[in-house]
Amino acid sequence: SSGIIIRVSGVQISPSLPFKNMKKISLKNKKVFVAGHAGLVGQSLCKRLEKENCKILYINKKSLDLRDFNKTDKWLKLNKPDYIFIAAAHVGGILANSSFPADFIYDNLSIAINLIHLSHKNNIKKVLYLGSSCIYPKFAKQPINEQSLLTGPLEPTNEWYAIAKIAGLKLCKAYALQHKRNFISAMPTNLYGPGDNFDIKSGHVLPSLINKVHYAVKHNKKNVILWGTGKPKREFLFVDDLSEALVFLMKNYNEKEHINIGSGIEVSILNLAKTIAKVIGFKGKFIFDTSKPDGISRKFINSKKINSLGWKSKISLLKGIETTYRFYVTKKY
Ligand code: GDP
Repeated sequence: SSGIIIRVSGVQISPSLPFKNMKKISLKNKKVFVAGHAGLVGQSLCKRLEKENCKILYINKKSLDLRDFNKTDKWLKLNKPDYIFIAAAHVGGILANSSFPADFIYDNLSIAINLIHLSHKNNIKKVLYLGSSCIYPKFAKQPINEQSLLTGPLEPTNEWYAIAKIAGLKLCKAYALQHKRNFISAMPTNLYGPGDNFDIKSGHVLPSLINKVHYAVKHNKKNVILWGTGKPKREFLFVDDLSEALVFLMKNYNEKEHINIGSGIEVSILNLAKTIAKVIGFKGKFIFDTSKPDGISRKFINSKKINSLGWKSKISLLKGIETTYRFYVTKKY
């Protein structure tokens, strides 16, 4: 760190050194570990990383449980990655989150603690940790900027997952502060794409509705059930857009504060359902099961910061849903 303090109109700002002046990094010929390579983000990220001419490292869940500190340590010592993307997480939709609170908090906390502490212990050059938009307070001002973190209570339907993800963000910052580590974190909005979990019970709304609407068309059903009122709004980001952003941040972003990654594409659940119906060719009706939770009414994030650095999402909701649906039917990506 240069130790310089900049004074702007009376406010003391300690610059986000030591990394700000560091040269933009290249992944070429470097060993890049994608933790969670088989998940929604991991699959897309590995595909995107092929363009970087790096050596992609990954390990199956069955061979290495990232919740196991000692085994994870051994694996890192043996494989010596230069860079790590932490895309491993126990994820699920609104019902899974509220049904398995212990699994969501324990699994995600252990993954974050192990990988971040062990990245420090094993001298990993740079780490990018992935948060989630449910980390922001339920009543945060929208579009939600990065500074809203921890300014109010969380949405109860996914607070277990949120607490673990907030801890992950703070771990990165703590190791950056105390040990001068270049551990950064990003906060993507609701993601979707090929490789998603299409299960009706445990999946998120978009893949679940693809599954339900496809089934309805195939079996000539007149109705598809939507959970809740259909009124909540969500912002959706296609996973290949996210992978672009992650590689961009790994190369260019060196600040201790987490950074939002949003698409700016916000729709109500009912309009999302209608778009999916259009793609699949469903002519029936949507009916509402209001015994199921709506969750948070809106979580639209402010992506000005990453946009001003030079990344923007490119894939429209319609195009993204078409690609995801094609994958659902053909299993080809
Ligand atoms: P959230 O963004 O964390 O709340 O998680 P989800 O993606 O699971 O849910 C988003 C919204 O979609 C909530 O308001 C749900 O009630 C609503 N929703 C409507 N139909 C479904 C469905 O079939 N599955 C899921 N997971 N959510 C649905």
